[in-house]
Amino acid sequence: MAAEVIYMDNNATTRVAPEVFEEMRPYFCDLYGNPSSMHAFGGQVGRKLAEARGRVASLLNVEPDELVFTSCGTESDSTAILSALEAFPEKRHIITTRVEHPAVKNLCERMQSRTGHKYRLTRLSVDRQGMLDLDEYEKALADDTAIVSVMWANNETGVVFPVEKMAAMAKEHGILFHTDAVQAVGKIAIDLEKAPVDFLSLSGHKLHAPKGVGVLYVRKGTPYVPFLIGGHQERGRRGGTENVASVIGLGKACELAGRMMAEENTRVKALRDRLEAGLLAAIPHAILNGHPDHRLPNTSNISFEYVEGEAILLHLDRYGICASSGSACTSGSLEPSHVMRAMGVPFTAAHGSIRFSLSIYNTEKEVDFILEHLPGIISNLRELSPFWQNMNK
Ligand code: PLP
Repeated sequence: MAAEVIYMDNNATTRVAPEVFEEMRPYFCDLYGNPSSMHAFGGQVGRKLAEARGRVASLLNVEPDELVFTSCGTESDSTAILSALEAFPEKRHIITTRVEHPAVKNLCERMQSRTGHKYRLTRLSVDRQGMLDLDEYEKALADDTAIVSVMWANNETGVVFPVEKMAAMAKEHGILFHTDAVQAVGKIAIDLEKAPVDFLSLSGHKLHAPKGVGVLYVRKGTPYVPFLIGGHQERGRRGGTENVASVIGLGKACELAGRMMAEENTRVKALRDRLEAGLLAAIPHAILNGHPDHRLPNTSNISFEYVEGEAILLHLDRYGICASSGSACTSGSLEPSHVMRAMGVPFTAAHGSIRFSLSIYNTEKEVDFILEHLPGIISNLRELSPFWQNMNK
């Protein structure tokens, strides 16, 4: 990694782990056979693909043949939701939350609006700490609910939802449950023997595998309608030749994630906590967004009131510090993110929200560097802020 970059934007994407890259390397120019071919040259690739499937399955505690390799988290989300709607055409209700990633949010809204309101959409609200109300959820479960789609962990705040419990509640009503676990997999333990979800989405590039590969877990026996119709790949559940090298990389990344999970939840969490505590102590009018405990170990979202997040990012960038304001997908728009709005973060704070998302590659020295420079950046920007000047008149 370029020595001068301090990368704390791991919820946007991660560095491909060197071990992952090495595992992938032979599958470009040497072992380039098609895993579905009959010849031995392709067969050895097929066996490596099966090994990767097994490695992903171990991380989630599922059977390898419950996994479908896809092109990304977004494809996995679309496949799960559209599959449920197609499998149960008489059911016209979808339950989701107000804080989903656009991959789920925009699809659900499109199903509601572009199909002449054929679908009723319940979007569960969150409180000021980004937490759901399970009573509201219980009341929303209805006879005509085709699917519930609730993320395991939020990409902007890191807040973790009680997915095991929510999936069990859906199960009691005979309703299919999908979880977008793109941010959770690799950061916190996920055991699908304990969480009765029917579908789970994950994405390679959030856990040190390459971009452009994902997985959809489909529990055995779940009604399933493919999204990409084509060849017989993935046992007929997703047409298209697998992105072999990336799938192999994802398998290795899952194996590494299983081994590094303890470090993620101790050393990385301690770094995150030190960064967060240092910033909250040094900078007045700084507010933590999201629940302090029910959170991913790597994520800290802090609002610096009366300054623009974009301006903070530009100044951080000059020091080589990579962070994010809102989700990577919403930056570029001047509106506060839908997550901040759903949480009721006041206007003056929502605009100044910065997400730091760490990984196993971050160090104490990097945290110290940010603690040394960010308080000065905020106070300089506030000197230029009319809001701040009015407040301090
Ligand atoms: N879901 C969540 C929670 C995400 O954070 C992201 C990416 O930021 C996605 C889905 C989309 O994943 P992909 O980029 O692999 O399509």
